[in-house]
Amino acid sequence: MTQDLQAAFDTVVRRNPGESEFHQAVYEVLESLGPVVERHPEYVDASIIPRLCEPNRQIIFKVNWEDDNCRIHTNRGFRVQFNSSLGPYKGGLRFHPSVYLGIIKFLGFEQIFKNALTGMPIGGGKGGSDFDPKGKSDNEIMRFCQSFMTELSQHIGADTDVPAGDIGVGGREIGYLFGQYKKLTGRYESGVITGKGILFGGSRARTEATGYGTVFFAEEMMKLNGQGFDGKKVVVSGSGNVALYAVEKANQLGATVVAVSDSSGYVVDEDGIDFELLQDVKEKRRARISAYADERPNAHVVTGGSIWDVPCDIALPCATQNELDENAAKTLIQNGCKLVAEGANMPCTPQATRALRSAGVLFAPGKAANAGGVATSALEMQQNASRDSWSFEHTEERLQQIMVGIHERCAETADEYGHPGDYVLGANIAGFTRVADAMLALGVI
Ligand code: GLU
Repeated sequence: MTQDLQAAFDTVVRRNPGESEFHQAVYEVLESLGPVVERHPEYVDASIIPRLCEPNRQIIFKVNWEDDNCRIHTNRGFRVQFNSSLGPYKGGLRFHPSVYLGIIKFLGFEQIFKNALTGMPIGGGKGGSDFDPKGKSDNEIMRFCQSFMTELSQHIGADTDVPAGDIGVGGREIGYLFGQYKKLTGRYESGVITGKGILFGGSRARTEATGYGTVFFAEEMMKLNGQGFDGKKVVVSGSGNVALYAVEKANQLGATVVAVSDSSGYVVDEDGIDFELLQDVKEKRRARISAYADERPNAHVVTGGSIWDVPCDIALPCATQNELDENAAKTLIQNGCKLVAEGANMPCTPQATRALRSAGVLFAPGKAANAGGVATSALEMQQNASRDSWSFEHTEERLQQIMVGIHERCAETADEYGHPGDYVLGANIAGFTRVADAMLALGVI
């Protein structure tokens, strides 16, 4: 790393003590930027990197809510509005007990570059709460969402900051959040939040978009070697929104998905994961992964151990940050895995990423591979602005074009900087230069 980049990183660590995920996300970007700051001293002169590492605004608030037994609970809510050079802040809300400021900042920081890579007019932000939705009734979820929105509503708007879902926040939560925003403001401002139900301004294919997009991106990578998903063995970690629809698209493209997981363990099904059954278990019944195995003759559940022990050609980590470590990477390499595409945000540890890349495994970083979700959120904003509602086919086609475009941008940038096939460098530099150029044009604000 150059001296300027190292100094910027040291400042981030000093200013944000204890926020290890945020440090990791910043390091992973700055590590790639050496060649670009060498070529563009104007970025250094205008202090673009230190300016980018400091969020524009960080909001922390109290969320009181009452459970079904009339007991009062207090959680913490966050919204980090990181950078709005390319458009209104855009990024999801995560409800999970592990959430603290450092997680939201890492996600918000990643979101800046991811959103820039989509080529769409959206800035970067993220929010959430340490609220645990697991085991809560619908009414408890609703009351929590209403209380959370009562504060958040003061900071968001269709042209200022547009939240959406992430872990623990799906269609049900977005409905309650939007309902409360509508009640508080007295306005039907559709473009204030994305991931809405189709009945009230949502976009078709938004639910599927992140998983589909990850598979489209991986397919583009393989095309360069005349390959594709057809006939490949795939392992997908997680069984949330992203994982579920990655499974569906991989199946559609002729692959066999042999394993999926959730927080209770993983299931191996050599017959190929049955998408409809998995969707029913996880989306409708909200049950554990063992409920899937119970209904499949050749499937078995493994608790303990790692899903990455299951041999595969393609690994799609779609669960959460740092879920795939160096040991897992080595196992994947030994088992002949040829491609890893991150459906989740930062699921591979830096050591795992290094091991995979140096072994010649094709590697797609999350900010490129999982950008289909937020890109389709931007398509939802377009539909809301024009009071239109597109067909599933049209929206999916747009999503695919966007993923092809992101792939092209990453690959071309990697070539331009003398590192062909390095999607980490390509994604970081391509995302960074778009934001940096906009910051330069907008002046010191
Ligand atoms: N949470 C998703 C992400 O990590 C989607 C954000 C959005 O749609 O705004 O990109």
